[in-house]
Amino acid sequence: MAHTISFLNFRDLNVPYRQELLDAIARVIDSGWYILGKEVETFENMFARYCGAAHMVGTGNGLDALTLIIRAYKEMGMFHEGDEILVPSNTYIASILAITENRLKPILVEPDIHTYNIDDQLLETHITEKTKAILIVHLYGQVAYSARMQQVADRYGLKIIEDCAQAHGASWQGRKAGNLGNAAGFSFYPSKNLGALGDAGGVTTNDAALAEVIRSLRNYGSHKKYYNLYKGINSRLDELHAAVLSVKLKYLDQENEARRKIAKQYLTSIKNEQLTLPHMGDDASHVWHLFVVRTVHRDRFVAHLLYYGIETLIHYPVPPHQQEAFAEWSGQRYPISEEIHRTIVSVPLHPAMTQDDVIRVIEACNAFTV
Ligand SMILES: *Cc1c(COP(=O)(O)O)cnc(C)c1O
Repeated sequence: MAHTISFLNFRDLNVPYRQELLDAIARVIDSGWYILGKEVETFENMFARYCGAAHMVGTGNGLDALTLIIRAYKEMGMFHEGDEILVPSNTYIASILAITENRLKPILVEPDIHTYNIDDQLLETHITEKTKAILIVHLYGQVAYSARMQQVADRYGLKIIEDCAQAHGASWQGRKAGNLGNAAGFSFYPSKNLGALGDAGGVTTNDAALAEVIRSLRNYGSHKKYYNLYKGINSRLDELHAAVLSVKLKYLDQENEARRKIAKQYLTSIKNEQLTLPHMGDDASHVWHLFVVRTVHRDRFVAHLLYYGIETLIHYPVPPHQQEAFAEWSGQRYPISEEIHRTIVSVPLHPAMTQDDVIRVIEACNAFTV
């Protein structure tokens, strides 16, 4: 019996860089400086440059990165409690929590059924005088930004905030995710395309004033040790994670290329009318954080792949408006989002997969019948 193809194993992702990571970790230990030092500064500069953004501020995780962007706009007097932010109805819950944590109101907008990204044709119908921003999510690794979206934002004076947690390295017309809107939140959770060895995150922006406020907010609201401008929080990127991320950033493009190669094999070789394959625009716009197919026979498909020794996951099984945490939305209907959540399933796709693994996934998908 062939080995099980796991959906994702964090160990497999890091083993190729083991020695380099150990060297980086040793450097941090020996430096005797573990919080907000040279490693964070170096990685912030490297990652800003990678994205083409002027500033990067490391945070403790991706949720805090998004939350602090909105918080900073409040501190700057640009957003107020009760203001509205448009956000896709099928996103991961963190995008929405970043809004509600700040006591602003998330306005759910249905996604496009093909790209799974926010439908830019629907934006205008949701805009009121309270709307302040569009929080776009480059879901599964595919850029959600569009020229039409920018036009709408410009016409109504809205900020575009990017949730880049799944899209490190994706680009749109030569510009990278993280440099498309006014500010972007990244997660470096271990499973992400650029992953640390624990929780980590950060904000990129070209807005120097915004970056300064976030820099202060992440560190108790302090701009100078023991002097506080804001009622901030503690959400700093650790030196240890920054050192690890500086190593892994060097390999991000190469790993994204490996993901693209597998995705292309899947797209050309999986031929089964029971399965709807993901849409792909131009090559650069997708970094394949996840390869998500749809089938109305999901339970049977999952069981079928498991029989072939292939693990799958569902991203995500319950749409935000049907989560118990958001009981206030329980009566609302988002039919496209519901359809997506009912039928999606993610098959393994990551840079540590072997060619044999890829072929086994293709063959198992093609052998699925109902
Ligand atoms: C992972 C993720 C987040 C949250 O990042 P954390 O580092 O886990 O807090 C936010 N949005 C999306 C779309 C994500 O996938």
